[in-house]
Amino acid sequence: MIDRQTIDRILDAAEIVEVIQEFVPLKKRGVNYLGLCPFHNEKTPSFTVSPSKEIFKCFGCGKVGNSVNFIMEHEHLTYPEALKYLAKRYHIEVIEKERSQEEIEKENERESLLVITNYASRQFTENLFNSDEGISVGLAYFKERGFRQNTLKKFEVGYSFEQRDSFSKKALEDGYRQDLLVKTGLTIQHEDRIFDRFSGRVMFPIHSLSGQVLGFGGRILKAEPKSAKYLNSPESEIYHKSRIVYGIYQARKAITLEDRCYLVEGYTDVMSLHEANIENVVASSGTSLTQEQVRLIKRFTQNITILYDGDPAGIKASLRGIDLVLEEGMNVRIVLLPEGEDPDSYSKKVSNEEFSKYIKEKETDFIRFKTQLLLSETNNDPTLKANLIKDVVKSIAVIPEAITRTVYIKECSTVMEVSEPVLYQEVNKLRQQKSFQERNKYPGPEDLPVPPVQAIKQVQYKTISFYSEKEIIRLLLKYGSNELDRRINIEDGREEAIAVSDYIVKEITSDELSFDDRICAKIFADFRFYSGQGLFPGDKHFVKHEDPEISRLSADLLSDSHELSRIWKNKQTFVETEEMKLREIVPDAVLKFKSDKIIAARKEIMTLLEEAVKEGDKDKIQTLQQRYNSLSTALGQISRQLGNRILL
Ligand SMILES: [Zn+2]
Repeated sequence: MIDRQTIDRILDAAEIVEVIQEFVPLKKRGVNYLGLCPFHNEKTPSFTVSPSKEIFKCFGCGKVGNSVNFIMEHEHLTYPEALKYLAKRYHIEVIEKERSQEEIEKENERESLLVITNYASRQFTENLFNSDEGISVGLAYFKERGFRQNTLKKFEVGYSFEQRDSFSKKALEDGYRQDLLVKTGLTIQHEDRIFDRFSGRVMFPIHSLSGQVLGFGGRILKAEPKSAKYLNSPESEIYHKSRIVYGIYQARKAITLEDRCYLVEGYTDVMSLHEANIENVVASSGTSLTQEQVRLIKRFTQNITILYDGDPAGIKASLRGIDLVLEEGMNVRIVLLPEGEDPDSYSKKVSNEEFSKYIKEKETDFIRFKTQLLLSETNNDPTLKANLIKDVVKSIAVIPEAITRTVYIKECSTVMEVSEPVLYQEVNKLRQQKSFQERNKYPGPEDLPVPPVQAIKQVQYKTISFYSEKEIIRLLLKYGSNELDRRINIEDGREEAIAVSDYIVKEITSDELSFDDRICAKIFADFRFYSGQGLFPGDKHFVKHEDPEISRLSADLLSDSHELSRIWKNKQTFVETEEMKLREIVPDAVLKFKSDKIIAARKEIMTLLEEAVKEGDKDKIQTLQQRYNSLSTALGQISRQLGNRILL
């Protein structure tokens, strides 16, 4: 946790033009700056930075935010990471709240371990290129496998000498502490003797996103029946193999640019693909794919293509990985390599062009892949086929987006010759089971009394008022402090101004209406609070808000990108006009907001009414009908006020 004061200091220091200019060349255009968007490919610049509003906005792809949001997007960092990044850039000391002595020690230890692994990596590289043993054993191995020098340097591969304590001894001589060496897993302590974990192996350092060495994979070169071919660093304070993928540091830029990530199995597969000019590739390095690894990749792209060796046993074991990717709402495609080939061997067998062509041509979606793979085994046995259908349906059921599920159900229906309604039924059944299990796993107060039907309906109602909610927030942010009206105070006869924010807050709270959208609700609550104190928070308060979702929405609403701006582009005077027309625009927006709420409430009552009719509960029916009628009357009044301009 970074404390609020530090966050404010960082936000004040991080001048948006300066921050962005480090990554994107900007040209001054009027009051704003313009450049080529770093988040999508474009030839004419539509990426705008406003120094006065302290926001950026791309009119091509819609990316928007403040300086911290920019760093988050561009460098693929989390919010606290982005803040620390900027703090470092502007020499601001980051004071983190409530760190215990224990936490500080842990942090220091983490840093010491990183120093050691990075030192070790340099030692191993030195051994590989500049020692007789390294050249004749390690480098010879890589040369024999056909790797080029620049690839070896890019991945910082190395060699650990055969002498069993060579590295540990050197590290101790160079002043590194034995207990920390042991904690990195590079050194093994047995009673009073020490050994190197990786002796006689070529070394593949595993980098973090920012290029720090977290751990190693080592491949043995001598045929020793007792030793594992590949050995990994053990889990430590810095190395968690389930959280990192091999090659992400070298691949991150290419993954963003290509908007796709290839997933292979081994270290040398990754390196070989780089040599074949495919740089958007990572390996899950010695584990079956985990959810954390999938999420790491998701920070860069929505699209994963898994390259499988042409060996059916291995494929089946890793099918689970596909579901993990689907569950994250990502798109997964699969390429099966020719029998007996892995990415490393096959990329070396054929030319780069042929290799790329093969991948493009053989890419299939997971349904075709899974069915083709498993269908041959069923031999038309109906029970086995039913099991296969269940298996595929299970994969479809984990996909979060309804549209994607629909596409796959269609495909599944064609490939497996099962009717779509049957598949829908199966998928829905599984999804209901799943949501039931999840509800029971984390009982939240809001989950308990709500009957499932109503819960589903409510989600639909929320979308009804989303735009009118956003419009209210937009008016608050943009014109909150503007004068809307004047009136005479009856008590002292003095004239007083009513601000837009006061008017909106009063109208909405007196009718006890609330916002369904979480972010809109938070912003409104702030306005309400300030308005109660006779204050106005100002748009900067929100653009620089510590909650990145709030700052992003505020920046979006404040950038002139909303429908109105299109008119503004044609008529230079429009913004002025909007500001001059607030006396009409603001009350209209409030009425639209209210009518949307009533429409949603009416729909909800309709559902309850249907249930009451089914149950034959006469009292309930009557109460609900009365409520429905009074809402309709209110809606009719609003509708007349709006001049029948609302669409029901
Ligand atoms: Zn863009």
